[in-house]
Amino acid sequence: LDAESQRLFFALWPDEIVRDRLHGLSARFLRPGSGRPVTPDNFHVTVFFLGDTDTAKRACAEQVAGTVSRQAFTLTLDQVGYWQRPQVLWVGATRTPEELLALVGDLNVGLSACGFSPERRDYRAHVTVARKVRRGPHQLAAVDAVSWRVERFCLVESVTESAGVRYRVLRCWALG
Ligand code: ATP
Ligand code: MG
Repeated sequence: LDAESQRLFFALWPDEIVRDRLHGLSARFLRPGSGRPVTPDNFHVTVFFLGDTDTAKRACAEQVAGTVSRQAFTLTLDQVGYWQRPQVLWVGATRTPEELLALVGDLNVGLSACGFSPERRDYRAHVTVARKVRRGPHQLAAVDAVSWRVERFCLVESVTESAGVRYRVLRCWALG
């Protein structure tokens, strides 16, 4: 890793209202002692994980982001689930909007040309609300929907501090 390397990802970043609603919703699913809640300031939906990125690759990624021309969409977060292997509790969407899939698709294509590895698994839009959850619900639970109007996507830096990881929004691009 050179000195200029940053740990980066593209994400959907909630406003305060969506963040507060997700916080309230997730609090009801967290039992005391079960895992580490994510601080609401860190709530996000990852669109594409770039990982350790040097200056040249970051410039390439920003150039790709600038060429994306997709519509704004409404993301309806309406279920809570648990993934055993990464041990995370999440709030997600039963239905992934076509425009979000198109955004992910455009980024996969463009960023591959920059040398980033696209995600091979199906895209699952989710907000991780707790980590290191050893035991979680086996079944998906429907929850009161949080309706999130998504009008931009952002480049975010993951910064590791003594207090834990913190995400810093570097730059956003508008969706039409
Ligand atoms: P930490 O790794 O320090 O426990 P974190 O996982 O929240 O914290 P990052 O690893 O920097 O922080 O990840 C930033 C975002 O990218 C998170 O939403 C994470 O789930 C996602 N992410 C991390 N690694 C990958 C990966 N290999 N593929 C897809 N998404 C990833
Ligand atoms: Mg991680």
